[in-house]
Amino acid sequence: MKFDKKTFLADVERVLNSDYACDMKSAGRRELYNAVSKAVMEEAYADWSREKKSNRRRCGYFSAEFLMGRAIYSNLLNLGILEEVGDALKSVGEDLNQFEEVEDAALGNGGLGRLAACYLESAASKDIALDGYGIRYRYGLFRQTFENGFQHEEGDDWLKWGDPWSVRVDRDAVLVRFADQTVRAVPYDMPIFGYKNGVVNTLRLWQSEPVQAFDFASFNEMRGEVKANENFNATKITDVLYPNDNTMVGKILRLRQQYFMVSASLQDIVKKFKAAGKDLKALPEKWCFQLNDTHPVIAIPELLRILQTEGLSFEEAFDVCHKCFNFTNHTIMAEALEKWDALALSDLLPDVYEQIVACQQRLSSEGVDPNYFYIVRDNVVHMANLAIYVSAHVNGVAEIHTNILKTQTFKNWYERYPEKFVNITNGITPRRWMLLNNPKMARLIDSKIGTVWHTRLPELKKIKPFIGEMLPEFVRIKQENKQKLAAYIAEHEGVELSPDFIFDVQVKRLHEYKRQMLNALSVLWYYFGIKDGDITDFPPTAFIFGAKAAPGYYMAKAVIKFINEIARLVNSDAEVADKMKVVFVQNYNVSYAEKIVCAADISEQISLAGMEASGTSNMKFMLGGTVTLGTLDGANVEICEEAGSENNYIFGATVEEVAAIKQFYCPREIIEQNPRLKRALMTLVDGTFQDDSGMLQKLFESMTSGYEPDRYLVLYDFADYVRVKTQLLYDFGSDEFNKKCLVNMASVGKFSADRSVTDYAKLIWNL
Ligand SMILES: *Cc1c(COP(=O)(O)O)cnc(C)c1O
Repeated sequence: MKFDKKTFLADVERVLNSDYACDMKSAGRRELYNAVSKAVMEEAYADWSREKKSNRRRCGYFSAEFLMGRAIYSNLLNLGILEEVGDALKSVGEDLNQFEEVEDAALGNGGLGRLAACYLESAASKDIALDGYGIRYRYGLFRQTFENGFQHEEGDDWLKWGDPWSVRVDRDAVLVRFADQTVRAVPYDMPIFGYKNGVVNTLRLWQSEPVQAFDFASFNEMRGEVKANENFNATKITDVLYPNDNTMVGKILRLRQQYFMVSASLQDIVKKFKAAGKDLKALPEKWCFQLNDTHPVIAIPELLRILQTEGLSFEEAFDVCHKCFNFTNHTIMAEALEKWDALALSDLLPDVYEQIVACQQRLSSEGVDPNYFYIVRDNVVHMANLAIYVSAHVNGVAEIHTNILKTQTFKNWYERYPEKFVNITNGITPRRWMLLNNPKMARLIDSKIGTVWHTRLPELKKIKPFIGEMLPEFVRIKQENKQKLAAYIAEHEGVELSPDFIFDVQVKRLHEYKRQMLNALSVLWYYFGIKDGDITDFPPTAFIFGAKAAPGYYMAKAVIKFINEIARLVNSDAEVADKMKVVFVQNYNVSYAEKIVCAADISEQISLAGMEASGTSNMKFMLGGTVTLGTLDGANVEICEEAGSENNYIFGATVEEVAAIKQFYCPREIIEQNPRLKRALMTLVDGTFQDDSGMLQKLFESMTSGYEPDRYLVLYDFADYVRVKTQLLYDFGSDEFNKKCLVNMASVGKFSADRSVTDYAKLIWNL
């Protein structure tokens, strides 16, 4: 975007005058933020409008989550005016950094929602016509604080600072009908700016509102009376994001959200397609849809329904759906694969349920074995099976994950439809995760190989010949990033970290399978070793955690309490003050992640092999020049292929081993063989920690007793974990170690979301 300081400041001044009745001098932060954003939006309008009017074939990315983070800096960066706007503001005595107070748009839980955000940015940067469709939650993922070590949740008022990066589009509002309720869906469009290429795609988020104020007369003609409470309840549908990550909660409100979002999106798309005078059988010539996990899969029967009301036969509609829909699976965990009670679904959406039954009948008529191939069985609707049956393509998100889908989770489906299954390994956008959050590192790389890598990440391999000469600067920049993070943590968490310590980081959602417990137990294991004098010369290390637990996930909350207690014990012990510190940062989100990933020395990716579909924080750390301490799980496997196992720290049981281990697994034996591990584990119940809640006791029991003690093999992998982790800690700081960091950075090319979306465009969307 062309930038003229005078024009820009005049634009800002004008918005301040007209929208806030103030000027540059009297404007508060909030007013200034809105005015700066709106001035930029105005400038970008022409490009956006051109893309919106363009007639090219598009893909709709349907997702219940978009974890966008903070918009302003990444938008300015992509428009190529980040520094210019900063300078312009400086010239009038204002600091661009003041907008760090703006809340993140946290309309997602974790990896899945962040992936959607990275894909939108990458698609725009690669000029791929991809638009996001989702829900404009009034409250995003809860804000987390700790009180006495326990997680507390507060509502996330992300609109507190206004929403200048969205435009409400009333003229595109549609009605969404449930058996007991009809609501109005109003879209808010957010521009998605490609990186310095003039492309602007759209994220369209739907908000539910009462019908009343809108077209009441025609609504009455069609449907009769507005039902009691209908309007009162309408806004509830998009009130709040479900805070569950990788678990299915069978709540009707959730189903309402899912249907609301896909029905509104498909009505909108079909309406515009028809207005262009096209035959709906040709819809696939203009549109395809990517279903991000099972949450939007109800789009399939909804499009079947819509097409038949438009006069297509079921078979014709099925053919269109088959050509349009594609499905991404994100997890093999049974508790996350969505299933709906058939009666509840048919009560809420009778016409949609009818289409699901028709799909089941079509499947049955093919003479398949009903034990292996079913959509509705025993009054349960299996959304993943519906998606696989109808979609043209089904993809997993890393090689190992796709292989597990093919050989285990969806084995029968794969054998029947091998051509449907593809792998698209996840990726991250190097703009937000390097250019924006680590600009000095980016400049260092630019000085060696130019800037092509900004949009072609594999080019980073060209730094390999320069690794030797880059080392001192690399170390200095990383050190500076650590200093900044330490200052931020001191201010926000009240814990002082020395940037001279090793920063050992595990940040991701709190989940048993991700095994924060393994890390936590190792911290205690080192602590006791130091206290007893068994461990000498321990390399000073800061153990940094960040994670939100789903509010209803008891065991995850217990792990948070445990780690916070460990932090209190360790940080208050003067004897180890020069050896270790522990901090669990509050409210881990995208903006926190940006500060953390560029300051990490160790990337902990320690899930039980087979459980983490891909992971993406592993890629963010790799891009920042951080070695992985991890299992052979998800994309870690491919990280090792790209950067070499010798440049990372791999431990633990492999996928192939896990099943066999579980057959005869006895955690008690392991505990008895490792007295210091036993001591660490016993702190849960021996009074070391204050806990009236009984949580730590329950956590202990989950590790040691019950039907499946230590389900995720924490204790099994413990010895190998500390062996490799200790090796890493002692390797740290040498030239050889620093080279490993840079080799990782140089080898990260494959994990650009630019590559991922290009793969989707080629292998699936045919864009
Ligand atoms: C990248 C990211 C994630 C995903 O992390 P994983 O370790 O891959 O699970 C989750 N939350 C936030 C805020 C992120 O930025």
